[in-house]
Amino acid sequence: MEESSIEETGRNEGKIEAEFNGKPKVAYFSMEIGIDEHVPTYSGGLGVLAGDTIKSCADLNIPVVGVTLLSENGYFYQKIDEEGNQIELPIDFCVSDFLKLLPTKTSVMIEDREVKIRVWYYPVKGINGYIVPVFFLDSNLNENSEWDRTLTKHLYGGDKRYRLAQEIILGIGGVRMLEALGYKTIDKYHMNEGHSAFLTLELYNQLRDVEKVREKCVFTTHTPVASGHDQFELSYAKPMLGDMLPSMILDEVIFENKLNMTKLALFFSHYVNGVAKKHREISRLMFPGYSIDSITNGVHSLTWVSDPFKRLFDKHMPGWRSDPYILRSAFSIPKNEIWDAHMEAKRRLIDFVNSRYNAGMKYDHFTIGFARRQTAYKRPDLLISDPDRLMQIAEKTGPIQIIYAGKAHPNDESGKNAIKKIFEVMKTIGGRVKMTYIQNYDMTIGKMVTAGVDLWLNTPRRPREASGTSGMKAAHNGVPQFSTLDGWWLEGCIENITGWAIGPEKTEDAESDDEVDRNDLYNKLESWIIPKFYKDRDNWIRTMRSCIAINASFFNTNRMVQQYVVNAYFL
Ligand SMILES: *Cc1c(COP(=O)(O)O)cnc(C)c1O
Repeated sequence: MEESSIEETGRNEGKIEAEFNGKPKVAYFSMEIGIDEHVPTYSGGLGVLAGDTIKSCADLNIPVVGVTLLSENGYFYQKIDEEGNQIELPIDFCVSDFLKLLPTKTSVMIEDREVKIRVWYYPVKGINGYIVPVFFLDSNLNENSEWDRTLTKHLYGGDKRYRLAQEIILGIGGVRMLEALGYKTIDKYHMNEGHSAFLTLELYNQLRDVEKVREKCVFTTHTPVASGHDQFELSYAKPMLGDMLPSMILDEVIFENKLNMTKLALFFSHYVNGVAKKHREISRLMFPGYSIDSITNGVHSLTWVSDPFKRLFDKHMPGWRSDPYILRSAFSIPKNEIWDAHMEAKRRLIDFVNSRYNAGMKYDHFTIGFARRQTAYKRPDLLISDPDRLMQIAEKTGPIQIIYAGKAHPNDESGKNAIKKIFEVMKTIGGRVKMTYIQNYDMTIGKMVTAGVDLWLNTPRRPREASGTSGMKAAHNGVPQFSTLDGWWLEGCIENITGWAIGPEKTEDAESDDEVDRNDLYNKLESWIIPKFYKDRDNWIRTMRSCIAINASFFNTNRMVQQYVVNAYFL
């Protein structure tokens, strides 16, 4: 990033300003936004959802602007050694190749220092040409101190003080930056997770009226796992925030001497939602006394449908690109054409793992995919927890191939151990059940894997998965999901029609039991799923088709964004 690009931007200022003229009504704040596979400013599900949301807003001409941090060094580039140890490397990302530096600046106070912020711009163009601007905040300016210059470099890196400083930049700096850019029409601020909740403090300090701030604020909570909610010790939070924290709200947002970002967002929002129906129930239990709605997540259809399925949908369901609801008529697509499109996507994936990892996989062997953040509650090793059983099933029913991918957060030992376990098992059963681990899971790999396997596996421990979205990407490519009944799958699973459930029924409220789930997983693979794939191909393809017609037509961000407009934004 060179300072000289400011001048270059200056020459284009008029053109960029013209793109701002949409009079946006909603500002969408997210710590991470995965808007483009070449812009590594996201880590996983939350950021990809934010990007998909913004893309659908652009497709639907919804007057929104996005605000996030630059995360100049991204999350991290994942390498895994022979033993399965994850190695985290910095990402080489030339910001000015993809984002445009604007001349506008603002600042925030952290401790007693003024931290200057500049901003980069990325226009997200919708299917009809409507532009949703996304702004990336950046503190890497000469005027700032050494530490302050690093604050927008590492997504989810550093210690708690670093995170708090990042959140001051995102929330307070974000509101100020929008004002500095000249926006005067914003009347809703949407916090995608609690990281941006300091925006409420900036609004309160301007308006001095809790009700007026509430009218403007919308909050989406994303995790039922307690450690997923940011909390900051007052010992450093108070000095860092200075006079930004009004004394009249302290009782509402401070618990056990910690400032709770979720409580801050809850206190100042007129509309709060969880990201699936079950997640609303869990959130209501976690935060009694607040009114919490639900809007189930989706994925951006045009982003996640693979090329062969795009051609197939264009042929049979014209109009699906701007209105994914049309995918419900997938029932009329001939089964052989679905299979041909699937095999094209599958060959692409198998060729990739064979050439990169020498995986020795076959096009016509039953292939299971598991790819997501690696962490204990998602139980990445449940499928391989009894390798002998897995080998017996393969001998009985037909060959099985397994494709894994996913990063573990650098401080998450449980996730790192799961990767090691997968590598160990890979060595012992590799000859009988083919396994491979694709390194550095990102949007590009995600797109290829969700489209290219035969079965999408998800094994979260109930009720920890707020929604999950990768199974929706699979459904868009006719790939059925096999998952515990948690998050969106409680709404999307119709047994044997859109996929299969692992473990206790929908009506049972029990927490997951590993032993019960493991048995159910193996039994269903052995008795239902793999035999249907090898011996009843016609009905297998019927299931694939139902995934598109029943699930892709609904679990997309176009439907989701329309629900936000009606229920949360009141546009
Ligand atoms: C979709 C996606 C996720 C989310 O996966 P879940 O299984 O829903 O947790 C994570 N990372 C990337 C790169 C994705 O594309």
